[in-house]
Amino acid sequence: MPFSLGSAKASPGRISYGTYPLFDQPTGGIEELPVVIAQGNSKGPTFWLTAGIHGNEHSGLQVLHLLLNRELVRQLHGTIVCIPALNPSGLQGMRRESYFHRGDPNRLFPDGKPKGNRDPDIDPPSILEQAYTRLFAEIKASANYWIDLHNTWTGSISMVYRDRVYYRNDGTAAQIKAAKAEAEKLDQRIEDMCRAYGHSVLCEMASEAYFDDRLHRSTTGAAVNAARIPGLTMELGTGHMPDPAIVQAALVGLKNVLRWAGMLDGAPEPVTGIKIVNLGYRCRRRSTPRVPLSCIVRHLVDAGDLVKQGDPIAEIRDIWGRPVGEKVLRSEYDGWIMGRTHGIVRYEGEEICGMGVRDDLPTVLPYPEGYFAK
Ligand SMILES: [Zn+2]
Repeated sequence: MPFSLGSAKASPGRISYGTYPLFDQPTGGIEELPVVIAQGNSKGPTFWLTAGIHGNEHSGLQVLHLLLNRELVRQLHGTIVCIPALNPSGLQGMRRESYFHRGDPNRLFPDGKPKGNRDPDIDPPSILEQAYTRLFAEIKASANYWIDLHNTWTGSISMVYRDRVYYRNDGTAAQIKAAKAEAEKLDQRIEDMCRAYGHSVLCEMASEAYFDDRLHRSTTGAAVNAARIPGLTMELGTGHMPDPAIVQAALVGLKNVLRWAGMLDGAPEPVTGIKIVNLGYRCRRRSTPRVPLSCIVRHLVDAGDLVKQGDPIAEIRDIWGRPVGEKVLRSEYDGWIMGRTHGIVRYEGEEICGMGVRDDLPTVLPYPEGYFAK
């Protein structure tokens, strides 16, 4: 099973450590990613595990350090390709973004559209986007599965973000039918992978918001929709200081996913020590409630709480401490609290929580009209 990524080379029964070159630095030297390849003695799938594309999210790094050890390799069927820090410059400065690109680094992966001739009046992609495009080609060529590790807010609960699967519906009836069937098969794999992990699960936003926010160009958005690789984004609670209980539960969850993928033997282990929310119906994430006016908030709920429409979520005051508006901000939905967005000082229209709310939309959808024409 010869496989290499940068200077890391797979070898049966071994863990190989190396680096993957991203690009040359104008100041000399090269910007590179750390790579770990762990290969078992017997054949099996290739599973990519990545973390740290947001440089202030550190739990995934710790989970991967604890997961990849000699004991795991002794039992492993197949290969784990691990990049514990996808955005080293962000990690160095403990910043979400990279100083090689303005904007979210987790929106730079391919969108699946054919690339035409470049308009010379339009700036070329940033050096980071160019490098991630090359890295993505390596992933597409080798990965059977991909999990990317993130964090949300201080005290938020451990959860999975699952991308919807989009299919082309601009061909003949037979082509559309085949494309939809293939998308449904992939969606089922994604569903099974979520179940194997065993933490709370949320669907990503749907069509308009998903493409507007360029989530189709996130790591796992591109995995699912541009490369047709079953991929999941895991959100591991507080980012700047890993929560030991969530780290432990993520380790158990990842090993359960490896078992599901046929890469480890044995029965799944129970996931314990963390809040797991399952309302019995599928939920999606939504930024809600939003404050109707600029104010200071005092949350009345915590991550993992179940709420009903009309339940109080926070008190709202002016800077002097006087109640404003309706005095209390109430939930617009039945659902559960993913976590409280950072801070208590809010401008009009800003959300104060993330919530899981009922998801009535399908998980398999046609691409928006004209997607491939633009
Ligand atoms: Zn993140």
